[in-house]
Amino acid sequence: MAEKNPAEDIRKIKSARKMKEIMTNYYIEAKTALNTGKQVAWITSGGPVEPLIAMDVIPVYPENHGAMIGANKMGGELCRKAEEMGYSNDLCSYARSDISCAPINGGPIGGLPKPDMLICCNNICGTVLKWYEAQSRFFQAPLFILDTPFCHTQFTEEARQYVLRQIEEYILFLEQVCRKKMDQDRMKEVGKLSVSGQRLWQAVLDTAINKPSPLSAFDAFFHLALIVTLRGTQQAVDYYTGLLAEMQERITAGIGAVENEKYRLLWDNLPVWYKTKWLADKFAAADACLVADTYTSAWCGALKYIDENNFLESMAEGYSRIYLNIGIDEMAREVVQMIDKYSIDGLVMHSNRSCKPYSFGQLDIQRIIREERGLPSLMIEADMVDERYFSESQVATRIDAFMEIVKERKSCMP
Ligand code: SF4
Repeated sequence: MAEKNPAEDIRKIKSARKMKEIMTNYYIEAKTALNTGKQVAWITSGGPVEPLIAMDVIPVYPENHGAMIGANKMGGELCRKAEEMGYSNDLCSYARSDISCAPINGGPIGGLPKPDMLICCNNICGTVLKWYEAQSRFFQAPLFILDTPFCHTQFTEEARQYVLRQIEEYILFLEQVCRKKMDQDRMKEVGKLSVSGQRLWQAVLDTAINKPSPLSAFDAFFHLALIVTLRGTQQAVDYYTGLLAEMQERITAGIGAVENEKYRLLWDNLPVWYKTKWLADKFAAADACLVADTYTSAWCGALKYIDENNFLESMAEGYSRIYLNIGIDEMAREVVQMIDKYSIDGLVMHSNRSCKPYSFGQLDIQRIIREERGLPSLMIEADMVDERYFSESQVATRIDAFMEIVKERKSCMP
């Protein structure tokens, strides 16, 4: 038996156990909703979940399920099944694995609970529209679509009114499906909890400003689950309060996510779910810590547009101006801000064949970063869930070459 390395034990984030417990109970509650009389809504990851929480509906995220499928290395097989059903292998692997899971209750938790309704917001991509239509037909469940206009650089008054009308329709839709009126006081309370949770999540991510960083982007990929699935609940607020305290303790004790952090990198795009451990170890072996990423910060990035005292109205802008629904120049501006904030030495971009809206502009962002900050960047070609598109030897060679450049550049710095 391999001996335990005490230094590695110290580095383990203790809150992870609590997170696993919460997520297990969450899925048990969702999967037994039929017995408890609760309703279940499937919702896209960027969708406004708060009205569902206020109506006591259990939100379930096929994308979170997709991440679990990827992490359990079941993506390739499920995507292949979807292709046999007639879906193109160019379709997002979250959609493919979800669609092929549904008829067979496949995946690591035996499928998601049947939805009573589906809520689809296209602020992340257009794929979700057709994906949710297909699942709405399959489950014979009503579908609500919230259409957020693309915000190249700004959010016009017309756009605000357009989204606001749909938020009103969303609430009417929920009242019809749930056969009860929305409790406005409860909605206000949920809005405040959502903002608190997002602020805490931002504060957790910001602890990575510290050198060494107490957490890595790979840790953030894991601890993200609650701000996605349970945003707007006291449970999420309590969890992130505890996680933040743990990060602060690690800073005080000088515990970094990587034992000998010398290089600080920024990750762009979704994780490669089936290779997170391998990637984390590979970078750590080169004394590099991925201290920040554009993905997990998306669940607190729109805080500046949200008014906790006027949540429903302000969420029209908050849910429209998220990272995947803004122009490339705006995206690059956010990346530059993160580079400065977290003292980044290099950029690692996952060119994700599944997620076109995330991947198409990466070459432009790479160029802007090179011009404005002179930073080296690495492009890893992969897929977040479908492991058939990952070549370990090719990625390893690229990481080695990239780290040589990062080291060389840093050694020449004053
Ligand atoms: S295409 Fe991208 S944004 Fe759309 S569902 Fe897939 S991973 Fe999410």
